[in-house]
Amino acid sequence: MKVLSNQTLIVQLSIYGGILIFFWLLELLIFPQKLKNKIAHTTINAKFLFFVLPVQVLLSLVVFYVSRSTETAKWGILHFLPDTINPFLFFILAFLILDLFDYMYHFMMHKTPLFWKFHQVHHSDMQVDISTTVREHPGETFIRVSYLIVVICIVGAAPWVLILKQFIQSFSNLASHTRIILPKKVNDIVSKFFVTPNTHHIHHHYQLPYTDSNFGDVLTIWDRLFSTFSKMEPSQVVFGVDTNMNSEENMDFKNLIYRPFEEKIKG
Ligand SMILES: [Zn+2]
Ligand SMILES: [Zn+2]
Repeated sequence: MKVLSNQTLIVQLSIYGGILIFFWLLELLIFPQKLKNKIAHTTINAKFLFFVLPVQVLLSLVVFYVSRSTETAKWGILHFLPDTINPFLFFILAFLILDLFDYMYHFMMHKTPLFWKFHQVHHSDMQVDISTTVREHPGETFIRVSYLIVVICIVGAAPWVLILKQFIQSFSNLASHTRIILPKKVNDIVSKFFVTPNTHHIHHHYQLPYTDSNFGDVLTIWDRLFSTFSKMEPSQVVFGVDTNMNSEENMDFKNLIYRPFEEKIKG
């Protein structure tokens, strides 16, 4: 089982890396900018990976173990569904429940002062692009994967459900941070159900109430249901957090790593 988990992790990370590089090159092609500037910005965000990956990989082994255990013990909400259920329908239901838990996670990261201290590091990027996806404080990685372990215990998600869901979620997370926004008409249709770069960019707007809106991870239905969905013209979006709009500090990796532990954090 351990070998299977390790191989799955390597495959997942390789696909993730491949999609990231693809979008990075596409951004470079579509938006002419100095290669030096794009590399400098990417380097800051990529530095997080050195701290995030060990936490992510180690805790993912626990995720697989717990997921397999809930499967053998038939533990969790999903085991109340009849055994005869169509696997496709089963996955759709599992995905909806897990995506709702992801919505609640993101809401909690914004609304709990202690968790916001870590999550605001992701929001501090003043030039959101594909590399912003990996801009996550390792403290948030620990909170995020620990939360996932609790969710698996409640939901009873088997490894195949998690792997498939993770694949869709990773693609959505990467795509929603690209600079490639959708034409208005396309966005109006797609964003009825799915998170788009347009809707997630609004979440990265520097001022409330926009920062505290569009919490969805893959689906926008939860934001619509709980009235946290917001709209804004893409040209009006200003990236960052209004509590610290110092571009130098927001490009300083050391400053960002220490930021959650500083006394003076507003918001
Ligand atoms: Zn957020
Ligand atoms: Zn984001």
